[in-house]
Amino acid sequence: MLKLSSTSIVMERLLVNTITDTLFDTTSCLNCAAPLGGPYCAQCGQKKAGRMGVATVRKEAWARFRWFEWRVLLNALRVLRAPGGMAREYVLGRRKDLPHPLTLLCLAIGLLLLVLSHTEYLRPVLPSEAAQRVYALVTSYSKWSFSLGVVAAYLSAWCLFRRRLGYNATELLALALYCQAVFIAWQMINQLPLVLAPSPALLHWHRQWSPWYMTTLQALVFIGALRQFFLAELRRDGWRLVLAGALFALLKWQATQLYAHAVVAWVLWQRDAG
Ligand SMILES: [Zn+2]
Repeated sequence: MLKLSSTSIVMERLLVNTITDTLFDTTSCLNCAAPLGGPYCAQCGQKKAGRMGVATVRKEAWARFRWFEWRVLLNALRVLRAPGGMAREYVLGRRKDLPHPLTLLCLAIGLLLLVLSHTEYLRPVLPSEAAQRVYALVTSYSKWSFSLGVVAAYLSAWCLFRRRLGYNATELLALALYCQAVFIAWQMINQLPLVLAPSPALLHWHRQWSPWYMTTLQALVFIGALRQFFLAELRRDGWRLVLAGALFALLKWQATQLYAHAVVAWVLWQRDAG
Protein backbone atom coordinates (compact mmCIF):
# COMPACT_ATOMS: atom_id res chain seq x y z
CA MET A 1 0.00 0.00 0.00
CA LEU A 2 2.75 2.44 1.06
CA LYS A 3 4.75 1.37 -1.97
CA LEU A 4 1.83 2.08 -4.32
CA SER A 5 1.01 5.53 -2.90
CA SER A 6 4.65 6.65 -2.78
CA THR A 7 5.11 5.53 -6.37
CA SER A 8 2.07 7.57 -7.39
CA ILE A 9 3.51 10.69 -5.66
CA VAL A 10 6.69 10.28 -7.64
CA MET A 11 4.66 9.68 -10.83
CA GLU A 12 2.50 12.77 -10.20
CA ARG A 13 5.58 14.95 -10.09
CA LEU A 14 6.42 13.83 -13.58
CA LEU A 15 3.18 15.48 -14.84
CA VAL A 16 4.13 18.96 -13.59
CA ASN A 17 4.50 21.27 -16.58
CA THR A 18 6.67 24.02 -15.09
CA ILE A 19 9.89 23.17 -13.30
CA THR A 20 10.44 25.67 -10.47
CA ASP A 21 12.78 25.92 -7.50
CA THR A 22 9.82 25.52 -5.11
CA LEU A 23 9.24 21.98 -6.40
CA PHE A 24 12.35 21.08 -4.45
CA ASP A 25 11.12 22.61 -1.14
CA THR A 26 9.61 19.36 0.00
CA THR A 27 9.91 17.11 3.00
CA SER A 28 9.59 13.94 0.92
CA CYS A 29 12.35 12.02 -0.74
CA LEU A 30 12.32 12.80 -4.47
CA ASN A 31 13.54 9.33 -5.31
CA CYS A 32 11.11 7.15 -3.34
CA ALA A 33 8.70 9.66 -1.74
CA ALA A 34 9.35 8.51 1.83
CA PRO A 35 9.21 11.37 4.40
CA LEU A 36 12.65 12.92 4.94
CA GLY A 37 13.96 13.23 8.48
CA GLY A 38 17.43 14.52 7.67
CA PRO A 39 19.78 15.21 4.78
CA TYR A 40 19.55 11.55 3.65
CA CYS A 41 16.47 9.43 2.99
CA ALA A 42 16.11 6.72 5.62
CA GLN A 43 14.27 4.55 3.08
CA CYS A 44 16.47 4.57 -0.02
CA GLY A 45 19.60 6.43 1.10
CA GLN A 46 19.43 9.21 -1.49
CA LYS A 47 20.67 12.61 -0.40
CA LYS A 48 17.94 15.32 -0.39
CA ALA A 49 17.92 16.42 -4.01
CA GLY A 50 18.18 20.09 -4.98
CA ARG A 51 17.44 21.60 -8.35
CA MET A 52 20.12 20.88 -10.91
CA GLY A 53 22.33 23.77 -11.91
CA VAL A 54 25.85 24.06 -13.23
CA ALA A 55 27.19 24.47 -9.70
CA THR A 56 25.37 21.45 -8.25
CA VAL A 57 26.30 19.22 -11.14
CA ARG A 58 29.91 20.17 -10.76
CA LYS A 59 29.77 19.79 -6.99
CA GLU A 60 27.92 16.47 -7.13
CA ALA A 61 30.17 15.07 -9.82
CA TRP A 62 33.21 16.05 -7.83
CA ALA A 63 31.73 14.69 -4.61
CA ARG A 64 30.89 11.42 -6.31
CA PHE A 65 34.27 11.21 -7.91
CA ARG A 66 35.91 11.94 -4.61
CA TRP A 67 33.75 9.92 -2.30
CA PHE A 68 32.62 7.05 -4.38
CA GLU A 69 34.89 6.20 -7.23
CA TRP A 70 38.13 7.63 -5.95
CA ARG A 71 37.78 6.08 -2.54
CA VAL A 72 36.65 2.72 -3.89
CA LEU A 73 39.49 2.82 -6.43
CA LEU A 74 42.06 3.61 -3.76
CA ASN A 75 40.65 0.85 -1.59
CA ALA A 76 40.67 -1.54 -4.52
CA LEU A 77 44.38 -0.83 -4.95
CA ARG A 78 44.93 -1.30 -1.23
CA VAL A 79 43.90 -4.94 -1.69
CA LEU A 80 47.32 -5.50 -3.32
CA ARG A 81 49.02 -4.74 -0.04
CA ALA A 82 46.52 -6.20 2.39
CA PRO A 83 44.02 -8.68 0.92
CA GLY A 84 43.53 -10.37 4.31
CA GLY A 85 43.13 -7.10 6.18
CA MET A 86 40.59 -5.90 3.64
CA ALA A 87 38.66 -9.18 3.75
CA ARG A 88 38.53 -8.90 7.53
CA GLU A 89 37.24 -5.31 7.37
CA TYR A 90 34.65 -6.29 4.77
CA VAL A 91 33.46 -9.27 6.83
CA LEU A 92 33.24 -7.07 9.93
CA GLY A 93 30.84 -4.70 8.12
CA ARG A 94 32.78 -2.06 6.21
CA ARG A 95 30.75 -2.58 3.04
CA LYS A 96 30.24 0.84 1.45
CA ASP A 97 33.89 1.87 1.15
CA LEU A 98 35.25 -1.49 0.11
CA PRO A 99 34.67 -3.22 -3.21
CA HIS A 100 32.53 -6.35 -3.07
CA PRO A 101 34.93 -9.33 -3.41
CA LEU A 102 33.11 -10.70 -6.47
CA THR A 103 32.98 -7.28 -8.17
CA LEU A 104 36.68 -6.82 -7.57
CA LEU A 105 37.43 -10.28 -8.94
CA CYS A 106 35.32 -9.68 -12.08
CA LEU A 107 37.13 -6.38 -12.64
CA ALA A 108 40.50 -8.11 -12.27
CA ILE A 109 39.52 -10.92 -14.66
CA GLY A 110 38.28 -8.37 -17.22
CA LEU A 111 41.57 -6.49 -17.08
CA LEU A 112 43.58 -9.70 -17.32
CA LEU A 113 41.66 -10.87 -20.39
CA LEU A 114 42.43 -7.50 -21.95
CA VAL A 115 46.16 -7.96 -21.28
CA LEU A 116 46.05 -11.58 -22.51
CA SER A 117 44.37 -10.53 -25.75
CA HIS A 118 47.56 -8.55 -26.45
CA THR A 119 49.81 -11.58 -25.97
CA GLU A 120 47.53 -13.74 -28.12
CA TYR A 121 49.49 -13.07 -31.31
CA LEU A 122 52.52 -14.68 -29.69
CA ARG A 123 51.18 -18.14 -30.51
CA PRO A 124 53.72 -20.43 -32.14
CA VAL A 125 53.46 -21.37 -35.82
CA LEU A 126 52.25 -24.96 -35.96
CA PRO A 127 52.55 -27.36 -38.92
CA SER A 128 48.86 -27.93 -39.68
CA GLU A 129 45.68 -25.93 -39.52
CA ALA A 130 44.13 -28.58 -37.24
CA ALA A 131 47.02 -28.22 -34.78
CA GLN A 132 46.61 -24.43 -34.85
CA ARG A 133 42.94 -24.82 -34.05
CA VAL A 134 43.60 -27.22 -31.14
CA TYR A 135 46.25 -24.84 -29.80
CA ALA A 136 43.83 -21.90 -29.98
CA LEU A 137 41.14 -23.87 -28.13
CA VAL A 138 43.58 -24.94 -25.42
CA THR A 139 44.81 -21.36 -24.84
CA SER A 140 41.26 -20.01 -24.69
CA TYR A 141 40.37 -22.52 -21.96
CA SER A 142 43.69 -22.04 -20.16
CA LYS A 143 42.84 -18.39 -19.52
CA TRP A 144 40.38 -19.55 -16.90
CA SER A 145 42.92 -21.71 -15.10
CA PHE A 146 43.88 -18.56 -13.17
CA SER A 147 40.60 -18.94 -11.26
CA LEU A 148 41.80 -22.18 -9.69
CA GLY A 149 43.58 -20.10 -7.05
CA VAL A 150 40.21 -19.44 -5.36
CA VAL A 151 39.67 -23.16 -4.79
CA ALA A 152 43.21 -23.72 -3.51
CA ALA A 153 43.07 -20.67 -1.19
CA TYR A 154 39.66 -21.61 0.16
CA LEU A 155 40.51 -25.24 0.84
CA SER A 156 43.83 -24.58 2.53
CA ALA A 157 42.39 -21.80 4.70
CA TRP A 158 39.57 -24.13 5.65
CA CYS A 159 41.88 -27.04 6.43
CA LEU A 160 44.28 -25.13 8.67
CA PHE A 161 42.35 -22.20 10.13
CA ARG A 162 38.65 -23.00 9.93
CA ARG A 163 37.95 -22.84 13.67
CA ARG A 164 39.94 -19.68 14.24
CA LEU A 165 38.00 -16.51 15.24
CA GLY A 166 34.62 -18.08 14.38
CA TYR A 167 34.52 -17.19 10.68
CA ASN A 168 31.84 -19.00 8.66
CA ALA A 169 32.22 -20.60 5.21
CA THR A 170 31.03 -17.51 3.28
CA GLU A 171 33.43 -15.25 5.17
CA LEU A 172 36.29 -17.58 4.26
CA LEU A 173 35.15 -17.37 0.65
CA ALA A 174 35.40 -13.56 0.80
CA LEU A 175 39.05 -14.00 1.83
CA ALA A 176 39.70 -16.44 -1.04
CA LEU A 177 38.08 -14.07 -3.59
CA TYR A 178 40.13 -11.06 -2.45
CA CYS A 179 43.27 -13.22 -2.63
CA GLN A 180 42.38 -14.33 -6.15
CA ALA A 181 41.97 -10.70 -7.26
CA VAL A 182 45.52 -10.06 -6.01
CA PHE A 183 46.86 -13.19 -7.75
CA ILE A 184 45.36 -11.92 -10.99
CA ALA A 185 46.88 -8.47 -10.50
CA TRP A 186 50.32 -10.12 -10.16
CA GLN A 187 49.59 -12.28 -13.16
CA MET A 188 48.93 -9.11 -15.17
CA ILE A 189 52.20 -7.59 -14.02
CA ASN A 190 53.89 -10.86 -14.96
CA GLN A 191 52.45 -10.63 -18.49
CA LEU A 192 53.59 -7.05 -19.02
CA PRO A 193 57.11 -7.85 -20.36
CA LEU A 194 55.45 -10.03 -23.03
CA VAL A 195 53.24 -7.11 -24.07
CA LEU A 196 55.97 -4.47 -23.96
CA ALA A 197 58.95 -6.36 -25.39
CA PRO A 198 57.79 -9.60 -27.00
CA SER A 199 60.43 -11.98 -28.33
CA PRO A 200 60.53 -15.76 -28.88
CA ALA A 201 63.35 -16.14 -26.33
CA LEU A 202 61.45 -14.23 -23.67
CA LEU A 203 58.29 -16.19 -24.42
CA HIS A 204 60.17 -19.47 -24.04
CA TRP A 205 61.76 -18.38 -20.76
CA HIS A 206 58.40 -17.10 -19.52
CA ARG A 207 56.55 -20.33 -20.34
CA GLN A 208 59.21 -22.35 -18.54
CA TRP A 209 59.69 -20.35 -15.35
CA SER A 210 56.60 -18.30 -14.63
CA PRO A 211 54.56 -21.23 -13.22
CA TRP A 212 57.31 -21.74 -10.61
CA TYR A 213 57.92 -18.22 -9.43
CA MET A 214 54.25 -17.24 -9.74
CA THR A 215 53.14 -20.15 -7.54
CA THR A 216 55.78 -19.19 -4.96
CA LEU A 217 54.71 -15.54 -5.07
CA GLN A 218 51.04 -16.50 -4.71
CA ALA A 219 51.81 -18.76 -1.74
CA LEU A 220 53.63 -15.86 -0.03
CA VAL A 221 50.73 -13.47 -0.75
CA PHE A 222 48.35 -16.08 0.63
CA ILE A 223 50.39 -16.53 3.83
CA GLY A 224 50.38 -12.76 4.35
CA ALA A 225 46.62 -12.64 3.79
CA LEU A 226 45.99 -15.45 6.28
CA ARG A 227 48.12 -13.65 8.84
CA GLN A 228 46.04 -10.49 8.46
CA PHE A 229 42.66 -12.21 8.27
CA PHE A 230 43.17 -14.51 11.26
CA LEU A 231 45.33 -12.05 13.24
CA ALA A 232 47.93 -14.81 13.32
CA GLU A 233 51.27 -14.23 15.00
CA LEU A 234 54.43 -15.51 13.38
CA ARG A 235 55.80 -16.78 16.68
CA ARG A 236 52.72 -18.77 17.64
CA ASP A 237 51.25 -19.69 14.23
CA GLY A 238 54.37 -19.72 12.05
CA TRP A 239 54.31 -23.43 11.24
CA ARG A 240 50.59 -23.34 10.53
CA LEU A 241 51.03 -20.43 8.11
CA VAL A 242 53.89 -22.20 6.31
CA LEU A 243 51.82 -25.39 6.11
CA ALA A 244 48.86 -23.46 4.70
CA GLY A 245 51.13 -21.84 2.09
CA ALA A 246 52.56 -25.24 1.10
CA LEU A 247 49.11 -26.82 0.92
CA PHE A 248 47.94 -23.90 -1.22
CA ALA A 249 50.85 -24.36 -3.66
CA LEU A 250 50.25 -28.11 -3.83
CA LEU A 251 46.50 -27.76 -4.43
CA LYS A 252 47.04 -25.02 -7.01
CA TRP A 253 49.59 -27.16 -8.82
CA GLN A 254 47.41 -30.28 -8.75
CA ALA A 255 44.28 -28.40 -9.79
CA THR A 256 46.16 -26.79 -12.68
CA GLN A 257 47.43 -30.19 -13.87
CA LEU A 258 43.96 -31.70 -13.63
CA TYR A 259 42.46 -28.74 -15.42
CA ALA A 260 45.07 -28.92 -18.21
CA HIS A 261 44.40 -32.63 -18.72
CA ALA A 262 40.65 -32.04 -18.72
CA VAL A 263 41.00 -29.23 -21.28
CA VAL A 264 43.14 -31.36 -23.59
CA ALA A 265 40.72 -34.30 -23.29
CA TRP A 266 37.76 -32.00 -23.97
CA VAL A 267 39.43 -30.38 -26.98
CA LEU A 268 40.40 -33.74 -28.49
CA TRP A 269 36.89 -35.06 -27.91
CA GLN A 270 35.42 -31.98 -29.60
CA ARG A 271 37.78 -32.36 -32.56
CA ASP A 272 36.83 -36.02 -33.00
CA ALA A 273 33.12 -35.31 -32.55
CA GLY A 274 33.16 -32.44 -35.03
ZN1 LIG B 1 14.11 7.78 -0.58
